[in-house]
Amino acid sequence: MKCCPYCFNDDAISYYVEGLSNGTRGTCDFCGSSNALLYEITPYCELANTFERLFTVIAPSESVAPDRMISGCGPLPEVFASTWKIFNFNSSLVLRFLCEMFGSEEWFKRLQDAEVVISPGKGERPLDEYSIFGSMDWSNFSSQIKHKSRFFTKLAHVDVFEDLLGAARSTWKKGHPLFRARIWTKKKDPVEEDFHEPPESKASDGRMRSAGIPCIYTADTPETAAAEVRAGMHDIVAIATILPLHDFEYADLSVLDDISPLANVDCSRLVANRKHLRSIVTELTRPVRTSDSTLDYVPFQYLSELIQQFGNEAIGYPSVMHREGKNIACFAHFNGMFELHSIKKYRVDELAYGLHEF
Ligand SMILES: [Zn+2]
Repeated sequence: MKCCPYCFNDDAISYYVEGLSNGTRGTCDFCGSSNALLYEITPYCELANTFERLFTVIAPSESVAPDRMISGCGPLPEVFASTWKIFNFNSSLVLRFLCEMFGSEEWFKRLQDAEVVISPGKGERPLDEYSIFGSMDWSNFSSQIKHKSRFFTKLAHVDVFEDLLGAARSTWKKGHPLFRARIWTKKKDPVEEDFHEPPESKASDGRMRSAGIPCIYTADTPETAAAEVRAGMHDIVAIATILPLHDFEYADLSVLDDISPLANVDCSRLVANRKHLRSIVTELTRPVRTSDSTLDYVPFQYLSELIQQFGNEAIGYPSVMHREGKNIACFAHFNGMFELHSIKKYRVDELAYGLHEF
């Protein structure tokens, strides 16, 4: 039977299948798409080799202690489909899809005949050993670093966080513009130095940096930059377009809760940390209120320093002030990392408010 790129709602898998197809087009046996690039699934095909690792977290329920299970239990196709969420077709076709690849394998037949569960490493080690927070969760970790020990609280498994973060790593290309904004109240025109990072003595607490440690907060669009400085109606905003002098690597936290199982990560670590990664992204996208304390920044200031230690030059995260916008906080100095392209002044003519009764 033949599948196609539209069979999957995971971009990494779709691109992979597109690359594997030999250019033959037709109607897909699974999702029914017409004129689609087709790829024939057979035992030991290249896609099967890739999919086999997705089974490293699936075990018969009777073989796993309850405290080592993440979720389950149920029939294989349902558990597989609901865990990986990669298919654009229903679970009866999921079983056919998997049988085409693995139907003759003894290990597959055992799973097919059993109620199965999701368990990192098939339950051979305690769950805590796979978790970035060990026995804690984001909420405990956040509370501990804010209120108990600022300098000695650390992730239980830094290597696991580094591994997962590798799948969220991106490159911002040389010359691809970024934007910095200032609400402008001075009579003189803004100049490049107005958009440099602040000196150490004036660097205040920010979402990704502690007071005293400068950082260049940038945004992906002029609108995001203006929203991030909380420009109000009729404010004059100066916006600098700045261009990176070289490609730079950044950790994109906005995609942490959407890591493909085909990314270069350990599947056991991925399933064990999904709820933690979701908590991190949820906290990142929580609206910042003017009444919030800078204490709330502390957990991310810690993660940000860790991310820098992993060799990233910046950190990307979703803008909570401008929907769909992205911020990039750069760890380097302006000089050496950016050049100024232009500075323009704008007046804010329109603001949109959304109100939710609660
Ligand atoms: Zn298809």
